[in-house]
Order: sequence, then C-alpha cells, then structure tokens
Amino acid sequence: MKICRGLVSSIDVTHRCNLSCKHCYFRLQKHFSELGDDEWVERVKWLIGEYGTRLLIILGGEPLLRRDLCIKLNGLLPIWLVTNGTLPIPEVKGRVFVSIDGTEQIHDWIRGRGTYRVIVSNIDELSMPYTVTTVLNAVNYKCMPDLVDEWVRRGAESFWVSLHTPPPYDIVLRGRQREECINMLRKLTSEYGSDVMWFTDYMLDSMLRGDLTDMCGCRRLVVSLDPMGRVKVPCEMAGQDCSMCGLHIAHLLTGVIRGDADTINLALRIMGGVLGG
Ligand code: SF4
Ligand code: SF4
Repeated sequence: MKICRGLVSSIDVTHRCNLSCKHCYFRLQKHFSELGDDEWVERVKWLIGEYGTRLLIILGGEPLLRRDLCIKLNGLLPIWLVTNGTLPIPEVKGRVFVSIDGTEQIHDWIRGRGTYRVIVSNIDELSMPYTVTTVLNAVNYKCMPDLVDEWVRRGAESFWVSLHTPPPYDIVLRGRQREECINMLRKLTSEYGSDVMWFTDYMLDSMLRGDLTDMCGCRRLVVSLDPMGRVKVPCEMAGQDCSMCGLHIAHLLTGVIRGDADTINLALRIMGGVLGG
C-alpha cells in the first residue's frame, strides 16, 4: 500500500480554548494569534494543491470557537472535527470526535467542573454518529471499562484512545501501570471489536513500548499546521517527548508504514478509504 505525506493533514484552527485541562499539550506550545477565515481557506487549498490532502483533522484550541470557519472548510473536503464538546456541535461531512477523559468525576477533575454534563447535553442534540476520544493517564486509566460501557449505551460509535504523551510527566503511564492499561485495552478490543475500539495487536504492542523515533507514522505522513498556518515540526504534538509517545494516530500510521496487515485494514476502515489501496 502506498501512502503519501499530507493525504491527511491537521490544522490548529484557533489558539484559544474555553477549557484548561490538566494534561493539555497545546497550551504548552504557547500560540498567541491565529489566521483569519479567508487566510485559513487559502491555507487549506494550499494543502490540497501541494499535498493532495483528502482528510483534514480540525483541532485547536477549541475549534468550535470558530464554528463558521469549520463549516466553511468542510465545504472543501471531509473533516475530522475534534472538539471538547462544551459548545453546540454541528453536523459535518466526515467524523465528529468528542473528548471525554473519564467517568463524570474524573473527567471533571481533568477538564473542569460541570463540563461532563454540558457534553452529555450537547451530544444529546447531535444527530450524526460520533466517536469518543480519550487520553489515558495514571489518574484515569482504570475507569476506561466503565467509560466505554456508559458511552456505548449512550450511542457512541467508536473510541479513539491515546495514552498521555509527556510533558507533564507526573501523570504519564509507565512500567506496570502502562502494561496494565494496555492489557485492559486489549481486553476491551476483544470484547467490543476493533470497529468500536480502534486498536490492533500491533498498535497496542507499539503503544506499550512508546518509542517511535524516526519511524513515527505521524511525523512521516501527516502535515500539521499551527494557528498561524505554519508547518509544525515534527508533528502536531511539537515539544512532546517522542520516547513516551502515546498518540493513537502515530501508532496507527506507524503500523501502516511497517506493513502490518491488520493495522492497514483498520486505517482503511476508519479513514473511509482516504488512504487509497
Ligand atoms: S480542550 Fe483541548 S486545547 Fe482546550 S485545554 Fe483541553 S486539551 Fe487543551
Ligand atoms: S510526539 Fe509522537 S507523534 Fe509526534 S513525532 Fe514524536 S513520536 Fe511522533
């Protein structure tokens, strides 16, 4: 399977956010301004022309602080809209990802008091399928089975789960805890299937090791732009510790580059054929 750099791109559409989560990598990057609507449209057209981008991951900050722009960009190509879920969520062509980092009490401890209830109410108003995205760390990983059970019952279609990539280091999963977490994810994947829990054995083994170094699929395949429209190096998570990387898409795309058949198959399923065959 051939896959070119930039078929998948990501943009930090804003440097602003209405939350202040304990594990946030984005705030550590210290962005202070952002492109205007027309400038972003031009920048995305450039991605399409230069790299053949066919899937745009819209991140922030909180992208729905620029709701109209998100909708405008979705007129150009399919998007994955990644939101903290605290603002009304529009329907898009592509996928909606809502960040939920634990059962109610733990989620609120990480993301701010009362945020869980607001998300539930915004999701109740959403009429398209959605994916829950979760970042596991030493504080929240044990609640993952309850989180999955609750959100499958609430109607979530799938789960996009990463492990926290430091800094900050105090909540990173290491040693026995990391093993325990990966074993739990393996069990959940076998129970619900990989269309719900987006993992393969290759990816879980890779996440256990953490270190992707130069083979990182994200670094090699995804073009990421900061709020000013500049290319981020080496990846969206610029400044994080590659030796302890837990980013789901990094392990997914590394499996693709390495030719793992199950991981290629999963990537094709969740990216809706964007990667080609
Ligand atoms: S919602 Fe996202 S960007 Fe905002 S503080 Fe939380 S992790 Fe950071
Ligand atoms: S932080 Fe993770 S995704 Fe980014 S380049 Fe390093 S290993 Fe890859």
